[in-house]
Amino acid sequence: MSIKGCQCARNMEDKDAIQCFQCQLAFHQDCVGISKSAFKVISSVSNIKWYCDECMKLLPDVKSLNKAVRDSNDALNTKIDKIDESNNLLRSELEAIKSLIQRNVDGAERFDGTVLSTELCNLNNDLNKSFADAVRCEVTS
Ligand SMILES: [Zn+2]
Ligand SMILES: [Zn+2]
Repeated sequence: MSIKGCQCARNMEDKDAIQCFQCQLAFHQDCVGISKSAFKVISSVSNIKWYCDECMKLLPDVKSLNKAVRDSNDALNTKIDKIDESNNLLRSELEAIKSLIQRNVDGAERFDGTVLSTELCNLNNDLNKSFADAVRCEVTS
């Protein structure tokens, strides 16, 4: 970075200067209103092009560029919405599983020897019954 584009009196050092892709002038990152974190990204990614204010005014395709950025932002937002949706779905499924587990834990605490055997007996009967039902269904259909 060589020629200074900034109107301020400060020295221009490479580490905090950003160069316009169009006119090649260098500007202080803070003078052109770029945050430190954004500047880090811009200077570390070589294919991000930055234009100074003057060049932005002159660029004929800035408007369409902005539209393209907006469009891809919209697409991104839609994707994020979809991810949000499936996250919510997952969350409600998790809640269902959690309450199921909770119910089982409650049930297990309730069990003592006699209750347990009665429950098992009932369960066994239920299974037999539904097995019989299933068989009957198979036979009659
Ligand atoms: Zn420029
Ligand atoms: Zn400056």
